[in-house]
Amino acid sequence: MPVPMMLDDFLAYTLAGTRPAANETQGVCANGVRWSWLDDGVLVLEPAALEPGTRSVLVSAGVHGDETAPIELLAFLVRDIAHGSAALTCRLMVILGNVDAMRDALRYRDDDLNRLFSGRHLQVPQSHEAPRAAALEQAAVQFFTAAPDAPGARWHIDMHTAIRASAFEQFALLPHTGKPCSRVMFEWLRQARISAVLLHTTRGTTYSHFTAHACGADACTLELGKVRPFGENDLTRFAGADLALRHLLDGTQGEADAALPRVFTVIDQLTKQSEAFELLFAADVANFTPFTKDTLLARDGEYRYTVRHDEERIVFPNATVKPGLRAGLLVIETTQQTLAQLV
Ligand SMILES: [Zn+2]
Repeated sequence: MPVPMMLDDFLAYTLAGTRPAANETQGVCANGVRWSWLDDGVLVLEPAALEPGTRSVLVSAGVHGDETAPIELLAFLVRDIAHGSAALTCRLMVILGNVDAMRDALRYRDDDLNRLFSGRHLQVPQSHEAPRAAALEQAAVQFFTAAPDAPGARWHIDMHTAIRASAFEQFALLPHTGKPCSRVMFEWLRQARISAVLLHTTRGTTYSHFTAHACGADACTLELGKVRPFGENDLTRFAGADLALRHLLDGTQGEADAALPRVFTVIDQLTKQSEAFELLFAADVANFTPFTKDTLLARDGEYRYTVRHDEERIVFPNATVKPGLRAGLLVIETTQQTLAQLV
C-alpha cells in the first residue's frame, strides 16, 4: 500500500507548510491504521479495531522549535506505523508543537510556547505563539474527550531536549496534580532510561500541566539530552525513550532492568524581579548541580537566595529570562518517600 508523503516524512511535510486537500485529510495505512490530519503538525492515528478501554496517548515534540532530536524520533515513529513496521494498539495523537519556530531553528519567536498553556496565552494575545497554544490546547481536549477516563487510559508524553548539560542526562518533569504519582508512569520512565524525575509542587503553564489538569492525562515532560540542529543528532542516545514509547504504543512490555528514577521535589524558585538579577555561579552549570547549606545563589537588589537545606540542587537556571519570570528551580531529593507512595 503506498504511504502518503505526509506520513512518510511528517517533519518535512509540516516544515514545508503543506496542507492536504479537503478530501485527503484522512486515510488508512498499514495494518488498517486510520489516520487523520487535523492541523499543521497535528495527526491522529488509530488502530483498525478500537476495543473499549483502548489507551489514548498524546506524544508531542518541538514545543520548543530548536529541540530537534525528539521531533525526528516522532516523525520516524509515524513513518514506521504507516509502513507497518511499528504496531499500534492505542489511539495516538502526534503533535509537532512550535512549527514556525522549528522552521527558523529557534526555541520560540515571541514567547516560550511552553509557558503559555492553561490559558496563559490569553494574557499575551499579540504574541506569535498565542494562537498556537490555544490550538494545541483544543487539539488535546478534543482527542481526550473521545477517550475513556479509567486510570492509566490517558497519557501525554511531551519530549524535549535541554539547553544545558545535566548531572542526570535524561530526566522527566511531572506536573503538580495534588495526587500521589502513578506507579505505571514511573515504571514507564524506568523503561525509557530516565534516571531522575522532578516533581513540581505548584501548577505551571506547560503543555503537560495543561493535559494533566484539563484532560486528566498521566502527563510528563521528558528532557532527553542536549539541543543540536536537524540531522546532527545521534539518535542512538535517545534509544531508551524511543523504545519505551514504541512499547507503550504497541502494548507490549519492555525491559525493566534499570533502577527506578531518583526523585527530586521543587522547594523554591528563583524569580527575576529586575534587570539587576544575578546568578552567583557559573553560567554553564549543569542541571541538578548540588549546593550546600548557606551558599548564596542569586541576588536582585535587596533580594537574596541562600540555600537552606543541607543540599539543594539547581535546575534550569537562566538569568536572561524576562523580569517577572522564573530564573531557576531549587529541588531536594525525595526518592524514598515518593517511591513508597506510588499508587
Ligand atoms: Zn524544551
